[in-house]
Amino acid sequence: EPTLGTSWVPHPSQSRTDPFEDTLRRLREAFHSGCTRPAEFRAEQLQALGRFLQENKQLLHDALAQDLHKSAFDSDISELIICQNEINLALQNLQAWMKDEPGSTNWFTKLDSAFIRKEPFGLVLIIAPWNYPVNLTLVPLVGALAAGNCVVLKPSEISRGTEKVLAEVLPKYLDQRCFAMVLGGPEETGQLLEHKFDYIFFTGSPRVGKIVMTAATKHLTPVTLELGGKNPCYVDDDCDPQIVANRVAWFRYFNAGQTCVAPDYLLCSPEMQERLLPALQSTITRFYGDDPQSSPNLGRIINQKHFQRLRALLGCGRVAIGGQSDERDRYIAPTVLVDVQETEPVMQEEIFGPILPIMNVRGLDEAIEFINRREKPLALYAFSNSSQVVNQMLEQTSSGSFVGNDGFIHMTLSSLPFGGVGHSGMGRYHGKFTFDTFSHHRACLLCPAGLEKLNNIRYPPYSDRVQQL
Ligand code: NAD
Repeated sequence: EPTLGTSWVPHPSQSRTDPFEDTLRRLREAFHSGCTRPAEFRAEQLQALGRFLQENKQLLHDALAQDLHKSAFDSDISELIICQNEINLALQNLQAWMKDEPGSTNWFTKLDSAFIRKEPFGLVLIIAPWNYPVNLTLVPLVGALAAGNCVVLKPSEISRGTEKVLAEVLPKYLDQRCFAMVLGGPEETGQLLEHKFDYIFFTGSPRVGKIVMTAATKHLTPVTLELGGKNPCYVDDDCDPQIVANRVAWFRYFNAGQTCVAPDYLLCSPEMQERLLPALQSTITRFYGDDPQSSPNLGRIINQKHFQRLRALLGCGRVAIGGQSDERDRYIAPTVLVDVQETEPVMQEEIFGPILPIMNVRGLDEAIEFINRREKPLALYAFSNSSQVVNQMLEQTSSGSFVGNDGFIHMTLSSLPFGGVGHSGMGRYHGKFTFDTFSHHRACLLCPAGLEKLNNIRYPPYSDRVQQL
């Protein structure tokens, strides 16, 4: 059985001295003791994490329902199963991932042994957001533990129900010498970031991403920044509008639109818009019924602040579908906006809610020009029956990920790296990519201690050799 005991740090306001110092020292000492190095230890931690998910499934379902009105099915497919799959993959491949990778040698190093060693960084910090508060906290943790690091985990303070379960229960499963949890918001995280870590993995907004990167600069700490932005979705005239409506509505309204890879806006011709609107209306009714507010399958906005922000966005352009809201329930109806101006707030900020504006373009070239005028998005989607159109969009744009004729589902593939580019972030993870992210790839060359005669060719004086070249 894993060591029992809570390892999370008390709230900083409870202590006048630095509340993190002792914990961080303890974790560093544990790392230097070498206890996280053996594969068996790492596997034990991963198995314990798996047991945490299995034995606390109901608690996690309840917390996710409390935070985001997630149904058990939503929670399973977008949070718990994804974490469990990542754990299983890491357990199956741990030995292979940890193995030294041979490097080829050249004439000078023919007799040497060249290899890349996957070495844990040491003490790593993971900072998570609230929208998939189990998935986005634990999937990075899987890779950090598999790679043999000691970890400080900072879940989001906004998804309170999930934060509570993680804080109270998770430390009981993990070895408390090597793992600590820090609770709190901007102030506490800011204080924590003053300290030196060997790696920081941050998921959240570009605004806070800049704060994290600035703090990391002070210690020259490497970072992964998994950020957000506005993900474009191009819909070509050559499409079946009902198929597009089904796929787009599913991943725009999933988790009430609070998904970093959700399509933020559609780009299509006015003619396609006329065909899409009835199709989207019929899909929304099929998914959520005539009264989406009473549907068990539609999420709620995380808090009042985000609810008010989103309600204000409903005033942009013209509401074509939905538009209702209920403050007491933090409910925003699945909404489609048309006649939107590029300068309106809904096209200026990441929406992160169940609102889908449609922008009109005259065709593929104008859509590409529209996308390339903006920051590089985390995800980009293109719908068309023509593979030429999809390929042109792929070739002439840049984004963290790209999906033709679907979306979201690419997140289930741990064979593909997940991450942003430019303003949507830096670095990548999922599957082996997470293990590699949390490993320093150390270049190693082991040479024979003798055979010195062979080296004479590289030692000065060079005068006789220059003439030979
Ligand atoms: P956020 O940036 O507000 O918060 C993320 C984390 O940073 C939280 O743990 C929070 O406590 C901490 N934090 C907040 N302010 C801070 C400060 N001033 N100093 C230090 N730490 C601070 O993001 P959020 O609202 O939790 O999540 C939504 C954002 O995250 C969206 O932009 C979304 O696109 C993005 N996101 C990205 C991904 C991805 O994988 N790329 C996934 C989910 C969400």
